[in-house]
Amino acid sequence: MLKCKNCGERLTKFDKEMCPYCGTKNPIENMKDSSDTTQTLDKILSEDSNYSIKSYKLWLILMMCLGMFSADLFYLKKYKNAVIRLSMNIIIFLIFFLSIYLSNNSMIVLAILLPIGFLFLFYLALGLFFLVKNRHPKDSNGVYLK
Ligand SMILES: [Zn+2]
Repeated sequence: MLKCKNCGERLTKFDKEMCPYCGTKNPIENMKDSSDTTQTLDKILSEDSNYSIKSYKLWLILMMCLGMFSADLFYLKKYKNAVIRLSMNIIIFLIFFLSIYLSNNSMIVLAILLPIGFLFLFYLALGLFFLVKNRHPKDSNGVYLK
């Protein structure tokens, strides 16, 4: 909504030159009042011609199949979060692996497969949770996935 900076009366976009109530010239101080998500998106699109809205389906598939490698976060260009999750998963893997392998070093295959299977199932379940709830995340520009 546009207002006159002098008298505060409501203005239309046709009153940019002069306020019809008090006669102030250029009465509209801040044109950004009406900015919304659509305008933010327009801004992003005009600034970066390579920008495309990320796919919700692809994001879900990446999480369910390659979530342990942070593929879904890399896809959203949330690199910091991706590296943090990847590091955590490597630590989880090593804890699983070492606790099984050191207790019985003939179980090296199990020691590798068990943590990988655990992490895979975890991100599969997480992806299914987002799918069932129909939750759409934002990408690194704050735009919801479609
Ligand atoms: Zn006025």
